[in-house]
Amino acid sequence: MENQTREILLLKLGEVVLKGLNRRRFEDKLMANAARRLRKCGRFQISIRQSTIYAEPLDDNCDMDAAYQAARQIFGIVRVARACPCEKDTEKIALAIKNMLSGEFQKARSFKVETKRADKNFYLNSIEISRDVGGRLSDFFPAVKVDVHDPDLTVYIEIREKAAYIHLPAAVGAGGLPVGTGGRALSLLSGGLDSPVASYMLARRGVELEMIHFASPPYTSEQAREKVLNLAKILTPYCGRLPVHVMPFTHIQEEIRRNCPEEFFTIIMRRFMMRLAEQVASQIHAKALITGESLGQVASQTMDALRVTEDVVNLPVFRPLIGMDKIEIIKISRQIGTYETSILPYEDCCTVFTPRRPATRPDLNQVREAESKLNIENLCAESLSGAEPVTVKF
Ligand code: ATP
Ligand code: MG
Repeated sequence: MENQTREILLLKLGEVVLKGLNRRRFEDKLMANAARRLRKCGRFQISIRQSTIYAEPLDDNCDMDAAYQAARQIFGIVRVARACPCEKDTEKIALAIKNMLSGEFQKARSFKVETKRADKNFYLNSIEISRDVGGRLSDFFPAVKVDVHDPDLTVYIEIREKAAYIHLPAAVGAGGLPVGTGGRALSLLSGGLDSPVASYMLARRGVELEMIHFASPPYTSEQAREKVLNLAKILTPYCGRLPVHVMPFTHIQEEIRRNCPEEFFTIIMRRFMMRLAEQVASQIHAKALITGESLGQVASQTMDALRVTEDVVNLPVFRPLIGMDKIEIIKISRQIGTYETSILPYEDCCTVFTPRRPATRPDLNQVREAESKLNIENLCAESLSGAEPVTVKF
């Protein structure tokens, strides 16, 4: 075999293909995102053709296992396959498939071969290749019938310039849309289970994220802060680098405790978070806020409470978990790898000064009245001036 033929990766595009006139912009973004991600795994040539991105290693130093994992975390890619090289000759291709997939053929009752031909100079067209190789495979495995409509086993062949490639149906990729095609949003990231999942879900819809975190030292510890930065780090393979705006929140919480009725502590605190988030969003040109709220999960997430919380901002507030059960949220957090970090037992500013009996149906006018004793503008300005930007890199 020629020495320049190495295993390659095929990345199948998802919804990007539906984008009509915008398709080019989506594809360019996806190519750039893929190139940036795979650069960590070695030198690859990235090209796109017929809804597939081809990642071809340029030398033997490429880490194909790492690249395969990385490819499966790129939003916009629905499936990823590792394809084995083979000489461009139907007899050799059939033999290679026989050797590589004899186990699969033992298990299958029917099969088909599907071919894509990028090399238009190859002497057979794709249908002829499939038929030729399929015939040879039928001779090798007489018990397995050809079925082009609903086969147990589909074998794929790609005829490229340098070689032919063989692969099985691809593994599931991250899906969604390429990060950077859906605008920018600011996500309120706590150390809990929910907000990392909420962030992930919107990044998956192509949204570029920045994070905001409220810290109340000494009530919240250095470990709690580290935990949040670690959660951001776990999300970077999906989201890319993440700026985290760490906001001092101690003084605001102390002022609420000193001046406001206990039943409204949490809801007033939530209103401060939203105000500060909106101000940071405006600085960074983010067009929406994201939270991990889920309807009815806690007192501050009843419909009345959410309405009172969001009353202080004009930006849309995205709550992708609003209709999800905790069990579903936990399932995703395990899949994306945030679960183990989220359950570490460090306190959040939401868990200091929690009222014994929080209002579950807060009245907007009462809440406004309750917080009128505070100098809201000054408190927000003070927190903003103490904001600490941290960039979490992949
Ligand atoms: P999570 O699991 O995300 O912590 P939760 O179920 O604990 O959520 P709350 O503590 O009421 O719920 O927080 C609701 C949402 O408010 C969070 O999902 C998050 O988006 C935001 N939030 C809460 N605390 C903070 C914080 N310290 N910094 C930034 N955002 C926060
Ligand atoms: Mg929380």
